Amino acid sequence: MNEAKRRALFERLRELEPEPASELAYRTPFELLVAVVLSAQSTDRGVNQCTAKLYPVANTPEAIAALGVDGLVPYISSIGLYRNKAKHVVALSRILVDEHGGEVPHDRESLERLPGVGRKTASVVLNVAFGEPTIAVDTHIFRVANRTGLAPGKDPLAVEQGLERATPAEFKRHAHHWLILLGRFVCVARKPRCPDCPIADLCEFRDKTGTQADRPRARAPTRGESARAPKATAPRPAARGAQPMATTARAGVRRGRSR
Ligand code: SF4
Repeated sequence: MNEAKRRALFERLRELEPEPASELAYRTPFELLVAVVLSAQSTDRGVNQCTAKLYPVANTPEAIAALGVDGLVPYISSIGLYRNKAKHVVALSRILVDEHGGEVPHDRESLERLPGVGRKTASVVLNVAFGEPTIAVDTHIFRVANRTGLAPGKDPLAVEQGLERATPAEFKRHAHHWLILLGRFVCVARKPRCPDCPIADLCEFRDKTGTQADRPRARAPTRGESARAPKATAPRPAARGAQPMATTARAGVRRGRSR
């Protein structure tokens, strides 16, 4: 994909959601770190339900370490792999207390040394908590980057490095969220919703669904439309109308800031 198309792609995604935010509920870097660790192979909604009960009781490394694995498990037992995640969260909390003064470190190397924290989790924390222009590649971004031709790659690291090169500097801060939203709600795995896609004319995927040729591209909703936007938990994406990415993203933003 050439530079002009890459720039146009991000301009359109920015137009739909100028200030995207994580759908995970958090108020501090530590709350975010724990939520991201818990979110592996689980939904953000499921994690938010757990942390809504956990954080009023324990939302600092000291408190989670004091809770211990057996004390933490009851709060997170509704999500997958909860026992392993409980071990990781308690272990990383102890390291934060012992080695980082109870603070979440602001560097990749220290983050990736924490139990349960890999490159992707570290990238999310650096981006969301500290405003770094990192691009964490999850399954959605991997798919979108390959389909569109934005940054084709055989594995997440190759795609991440491709996105680093392909994303104009002014878009890097939010590229991660924009591409996730596109992948979650429009460029879905089984049957991409190409007729509803705001970047269909720029996308280089050879097997697009439907035709976009004579359809206007999605536009940002007006204030009045925004107020009527459906909640993300209501209909499934396939049942939504125009601007699916914008409406679902806004609902997510509202949830993320509701705590
Ligand atoms: S046009 Fe289709 S394949 Fe391309 S990004 Fe949009 S939904 Fe995905």
